[in-house]
Amino acid sequence: MKKKVLIDLRCEIDLPYPMFGHGDLEYTAKYLEQEAKELTDFIRDHRSRDRYGISIIREYRDLCSFCGTTYEEDTDGMPLCCDKAIQEWEAIKSNKVEAINEV
Ligand SMILES: [Zn+2]
Repeated sequence: MKKKVLIDLRCEIDLPYPMFGHGDLEYTAKYLEQEAKELTDFIRDHRSRDRYGISIIREYRDLCSFCGTTYEEDTDGMPLCCDKAIQEWEAIKSNKVEAINEV
């Protein structure tokens, strides 16, 4: 049975996003980190708020570089998303086997 359980907590603060560069997440992250630092400094100027801190959390997901979908593999490590990923995996696997045989 599926059961909804509270396992972790995060705080959320809206910061102003950059006017440009939305497509570049790393650029946006650095921009938001600067905004967070400035807001943290602003808060620290006020009494009894020394423990406040604001962090930008980068969330990562493994995507296939060929088809762009979420990268998933079977129990042998073979990718499941597309033929190109499988071909690359087979090529890497056979090279490793050759390298082991050469030793
Ligand atoms: Zn793929």
